[in-house]
Amino acid sequence: MASHLRGCALVPPEVKVKFQRKPRESTADVVMGTISSISAPPPPPPPSSAPSVPSIPAWTLSIPDRERLIQFAIEAKEGSYSPYSKFRVGAALLAADGSIIKGANIENASYGGTICAERTALVKAASEGTRSFVALAVTTDVAQPLSPCGICRQVIREFCALRMPILLVPAGYTIEKGGIMETTVEGLLPHSFGPEDLELPRTG
Ligand SMILES: [Zn+2]
Repeated sequence: MASHLRGCALVPPEVKVKFQRKPRESTADVVMGTISSISAPPPPPPPSSAPSVPSIPAWTLSIPDRERLIQFAIEAKEGSYSPYSKFRVGAALLAADGSIIKGANIENASYGGTICAERTALVKAASEGTRSFVALAVTTDVAQPLSPCGICRQVIREFCALRMPILLVPAGYTIEKGGIMETTVEGLLPHSFGPEDLELPRTG
């Protein structure tokens, strides 16, 4: 998913949302209290000497929710407008209210105006007022799981908790074949900069 044709579209200023500043992981706490399908409790805080990136996802989606989200991502790919790269991508976001928002990559003759599937879904949701999410699935036409580009990782970081699961789904996925790579926001973007960092005291 590294094609330059997929990425790098700037989000217009009017689409940028006012983020409610919260301490790190507080979004996860809120979401976990409202979604019955999130079955795993949060892990205990790691020892201070441990790396900050969790080795396993903190949340586990129910199998029905997981498969529903994957199917929405596969469906979303049908909406791809990719006449230049011929590289279709579909994304699906599971919101805290149970709704699923689909997105596809939308290319542009200027190339730089292209927006990726992940950001399409996020901007669609955020601009309609949905800004709390519990999982993301992404798929392409490639028979191995491919990862969001760097720009999308930062935009995902804006709205999603660090431990939110992200499912990278190979083309031709079936539940029998498997092959999904499951990671998290923090797994894709360790040591990230986020909204709460703007709240830190400044000594300069
Ligand atoms: Zn991207």
